[in-house]
Amino acid sequence: MSSFVAEPFSLRNFLKSFMLGELFKAMALTGRYALGNKVTIQYPEEKTPRSPRFRGLHALRRYENGEERCIACKLCEAVCPALAIIIESHQRDDGTRRTTRYDIDLVKCIYCGFCEEACPTDSIVMTHILEFHGETRGDLYYTKEMLLAIGDKYEPEIAAARAADAQYR
Ligand code: SF4
Ligand code: SF4
Repeated sequence: MSSFVAEPFSLRNFLKSFMLGELFKAMALTGRYALGNKVTIQYPEEKTPRSPRFRGLHALRRYENGEERCIACKLCEAVCPALAIIIESHQRDDGTRRTTRYDIDLVKCIYCGFCEEACPTDSIVMTHILEFHGETRGDLYYTKEMLLAIGDKYEPEIAAARAADAQYR
């Protein structure tokens, strides 16, 4: 059984609703936002600034002489909570070790950044690139060659972002 109890008559509430007080309050609020600074942008022509720590698409980096930074220590593979990284390696004639396979399954990846944090050589990094997609699951399976190509293409930006964040690392 419903227990509806009518509110007692209030002259104050009656006058408030009669004078459309709530309506004018709402219009004033709308006007304040309409005339104030805009917080929306025209994406994709306009973009918001991104932190140097932004965690976008991965890349593998090289040293200036073209040598791969990655030493196949597999720390990134071990730390990855999503088991998204697969590495295979071999020892070269000079005793150094390099990867023969470095794959990241970006469908599994949760963009936590642990791989980047764990890497002792700043090899695997996360770039500012967020506009990428795949139309099949396989499109988001990135191989070593693909990751190195991203690193080669965006090295100046990657290096600048690392430098900007260096004092906090
Ligand atoms: S960002 Fe996180 S989930 Fe993605 S590959 Fe790196 S460690 Fe794994
Ligand atoms: S990317 Fe870094 S952490 Fe991963 S295997 Fe290479 S050197 Fe080690």
